[in-house]
Amino acid sequence: MGEEFSVLQGGCGKQACLRRRAEYPAQKFYGQRHAITGRLVVLFVLRTTCPELHEGQFYLRLIYDNLKKTMNSISALTYDVKEDGWETSTGFIKREVTMPALDEKANPKDVLAVLLEIQYAGVCGTDRGIWNRQVFKELIHQTLERENKSTRILGHEFVGRVVEAGSQVENLYGIRVGDNVSGDSHVTCGRCFQCRVGEEEVCQDQAILGISTDGIFSKYAKISAKNLWQVDFSRIRPEICAMLDPFGNAVHSCSKVELRGKRVAVLGCGPIGMFTVLLARAFGAVKIVAVDILEANLNTAKELGAHEVVLLRKRDDIEADPGLLQRIRELTYDKGVDVTFEMAGPNASVNNALAITRGGGEVVLFGLKDGDFVIPEFKDAIVKGLTLYGVIGRQIFQTWQTSQRMLSDKTNGIQEKVWKHILKEGRDTIIPLDSYSKELFEQKMAEHAKILIKF
Ligand SMILES: [Zn+2]
Ligand SMILES: [Zn+2]
Repeated sequence: MGEEFSVLQGGCGKQACLRRRAEYPAQKFYGQRHAITGRLVVLFVLRTTCPELHEGQFYLRLIYDNLKKTMNSISALTYDVKEDGWETSTGFIKREVTMPALDEKANPKDVLAVLLEIQYAGVCGTDRGIWNRQVFKELIHQTLERENKSTRILGHEFVGRVVEAGSQVENLYGIRVGDNVSGDSHVTCGRCFQCRVGEEEVCQDQAILGISTDGIFSKYAKISAKNLWQVDFSRIRPEICAMLDPFGNAVHSCSKVELRGKRVAVLGCGPIGMFTVLLARAFGAVKIVAVDILEANLNTAKELGAHEVVLLRKRDDIEADPGLLQRIRELTYDKGVDVTFEMAGPNASVNNALAITRGGGEVVLFGLKDGDFVIPEFKDAIVKGLTLYGVIGRQIFQTWQTSQRMLSDKTNGIQEKVWKHILKEGRDTIIPLDSYSKELFEQKMAEHAKILIKF
C-alpha cells in the first residue's frame, strides 16, 4: 500500500483549485516515493473530490507527469566516436545521455536487469588508458558499431543503490530495490563452457562495463543483475565498496600462490599493486619488496606494509634492469624472490619479473599492455623451472567473498589503510560529477593514485 501521508495541501489541478490550493483542508492519501527521485507517486486517494467538487486526482497526476518530463536525460562521462573521435580527443567528455529505463516488453532481457543509482565510481588504470586514447580502441569502436550508436558511457568500478529491478531479479539473485550493491565489471554470458564450469572470469562471450557495453560514469545506470554483489556499509564504507572490483584483482592475484613465509616482489605500485602489498602481508609473506618508477607510490607502499622499496628509473630498454636484479639479490641472500607479482604491464617489467624470481619460483602476470613483447633468452624461464600465471578479472564470486572478509575484519587494518593511505581519507580524492572538468581531473589523476567520482 505504500506510506501513508496524512497532510497534503492539494487541489484537483483545475486553475481555480491551483490558485487556491493552500486554503484547502488536508487530505489523507496513500503514496509511494518514486524509486528514482524520491518524489511522491500517488497510489490511492481517499477523498477523490476536491472541495470545489472537481475530480480530486488531477493535481496529483500533475506531479507525476512533471517528474517524467524532468528525468529523460542525465549527465554522463563518455566518449563519442563521431563527435569526439579517437585521434582528435582526450579525456572523458561530459554530455547528456538518455535516462536508462527498464522496459521488459521492448527488451525481454530487462527481466534480469536493475536500474542503479550510482553513489561512487572509481577511476582506474584502464580509464586512464582510455583518457589518453591508448587502450581498447578496437573493442570500443566495434561494439558501438554493433549497437548502432556512437556514444559509450565509460566507467566500471562502482557502488550504487538498486532503484528498480526487473521482474526476475529477486527470484534468481535475491537482489531487491533499496539494496546497496557493487558488482563485477565483466558481464559474463552464463552459458559458455567456462561459465558453466565456474571460470566466468574467462567467459567466451563477455562484455566489460564502460568498454564493450555502457558503464557507470552516470547518476543512473542499467546493469545486468547477474554479477552484482550486495554490500553492507556497516562492514565496508561506501567509498571502499566502490573499489571492490580492483581490490578483487589483487585478491585474485594473491589467491594463485601460497604466500606464507615467502619473499615477494610487487612490480608496479598503482592501486592494485598497493592492494597486493597489503594482502601479501596479511597472507603471511615475510618480505615484500615494492618496485615502482614513482617515489610517491613507493612511500604509500611502505605505509601499507612493504618491507623494502626499490625506485626504478624510467627506461626505454625492454631488458631486465640490472640494478633491480642486484638489489633483489642483496635482499634475498642471492636467491631471488619466491613470488613476483607483475602489476605494471610494460615489456621491461615482465623481463624484470622473470629475472628476479628464484629458480622454481612463481610469477603472477597481471599488468596488461597491447602489442608484441620480446623476452630475451626465453629458455631461461624453463630452465629455471618458473611457474607463470595469467590473471584476469576476479573469480565470481569466490574473489568477492574473500575481498569482503579481508576488508570487513577490522583487526587486520586493511580497510583502514586503504582509506587512510590510498584514498587519503577522501581529502581531494573524491570529485563530484557536477564539478567535472577535464583540467581538474587531469590534475587530480596526476596527484593521486586513486580518485573516485561522487554522484
Ligand atoms: Zn578498474
Ligand atoms: Zn560465458
